[in-house]
Amino acid sequence: MTQNQPVRTTTDAGTPAESDEHSLTVGPDGPVLLQDHYLIEQMANFNRERIPERQPHAKGGGAFGYFEVTDDVSAYTKAAVFQPGTRTDTLIRFSTVAGERGSPDTWRDPRGFALKFYTSEGNYDMVGNNTPVFFVRDPLKFQHFIRSQKRRADNNLRDHDMQWDFWTLSPESAHQVTWLMGDRGIPRSWRHMNGYSSHTYLWINAAGEKFWVKYHFKTDQGIGFLTQEEADRLAGSDADYHQRDLYQAIECGEYPSWTLKMQIMPFEAAKTYRFNPFDLTKVWPHGDYPLIEAGRLTLNRNLTDYHTEMEQAAFEPNNLVPGIALSPDKMLLARGFSYADAHRARLGVNYKQIPVNAPRVPVHSYSKDGAMRVVNVSDPVYAPNSKGGPQADSEHYRPAGWYADGDMVRAAYTLHEEDDDWGQAGTMVREVLDDAARDRLVSNIVGHLLDGVPGPAASR
Ligand code: NDP
Repeated sequence: MTQNQPVRTTTDAGTPAESDEHSLTVGPDGPVLLQDHYLIEQMANFNRERIPERQPHAKGGGAFGYFEVTDDVSAYTKAAVFQPGTRTDTLIRFSTVAGERGSPDTWRDPRGFALKFYTSEGNYDMVGNNTPVFFVRDPLKFQHFIRSQKRRADNNLRDHDMQWDFWTLSPESAHQVTWLMGDRGIPRSWRHMNGYSSHTYLWINAAGEKFWVKYHFKTDQGIGFLTQEEADRLAGSDADYHQRDLYQAIECGEYPSWTLKMQIMPFEAAKTYRFNPFDLTKVWPHGDYPLIEAGRLTLNRNLTDYHTEMEQAAFEPNNLVPGIALSPDKMLLARGFSYADAHRARLGVNYKQIPVNAPRVPVHSYSKDGAMRVVNVSDPVYAPNSKGGPQADSEHYRPAGWYADGDMVRAAYTLHEEDDDWGQAGTMVREVLDDAARDRLVSNIVGHLLDGVPGPAASR
């Protein structure tokens, strides 16, 4: 092919296509022939283009980038991705929670902040949000919460009454609802919001010492928000406003970045801390555990194929590397199962072979076969074996966790001294927000309630 010759269309089998415009017919006026394999391949492919959308977090977008360690946190974790001087390729996905794939980016909602680090020890994922807390603390309530945010069974409409019904009967949601109804409930763009692990994780250093940690990715662009009126206007005029903003910024070379800061709690302090440190509806006040700088995340490369690199991207909190482990946060422990299960349902059992999900290190697992497997498996296919197959390194890699015992119960967390459902929400309203932000909070709540929530006389 010379420089001036166009690229020639082929079928999916690579054979030359005869036309981009005309079906094979009997004479110019038809009928269309069934043996037009290329036409049928095009129609069949089109009919199968959509895969099930995520439930929830269906609408989203993202980019590739890198994470670089800027400060030495090796005293707290042995994870290679956090060792001094390390730079790791990353993928990020931002999303809204409740809306469907075509829904407006500017609806009031928390935003997902999901990260995949392609580390030298395998893939590490942090599936966070732009809020440091969440609506519920027990995974049994998660499905119900999301259903209350989605659509009714009868008229297929979203319903603020359903949302407030769930929230008011779930007082642990007060903190996150306050956050959601405030300015940060509609970020100006994905570039102008923070990302938080929200959950507490366990870090383990090279000496085996353990620490509880929370991640805070602070936007270097500055926090920005949209008023309800601005967001409503954009929802009508540019439903993909946030996606467009990120893509254009990266195309222009304005690479957005976030500074990673950590809160680090000594392992033993968790037992007596004034709040239950594993309760997802609570933050650790900065006065108790100040932020310690660790690194910087920069996004510098747009996707080239949204479907293969974003719609098929699969993040899961149990993609963990040595030096990082789960905490007793019940929501986090349940997410460890739920995310991988969702990916298997949506993408198939071999979803980790899709290039965007594949680690950048060799894989030597004993998983085998299944729909859409594309990487060859070699013998032996079982362990233990005497045939030279992979052997787990149990001497160097051990389960990292904590001690637990007790009767089997269905119960709330043990309360710590200052645990209640209202205190931290109250602190935010009284001490963090200024007068103007408080006024907007009230106005946003009133507007939300007036939109479909019956008054006391009409309600339940
Ligand atoms: P600090 O004064 O140290 O921190 C207050 C935090 O509030 C800052 O991190 C700030 O984020 C954030 N913030 C500012 N405006 C808003 C807003 N409109 N909506 C949501 N968050 C906002 O206080 P404490 O650490 O003692 O926390 C006090 C309260 O602040 C908490 O009860 C919680 O509601 C809220 N908060 C606390 C966080 C934490 O991890 N400790 C994180 C986020 C909120 P920034 O610095 O990026 O502007």
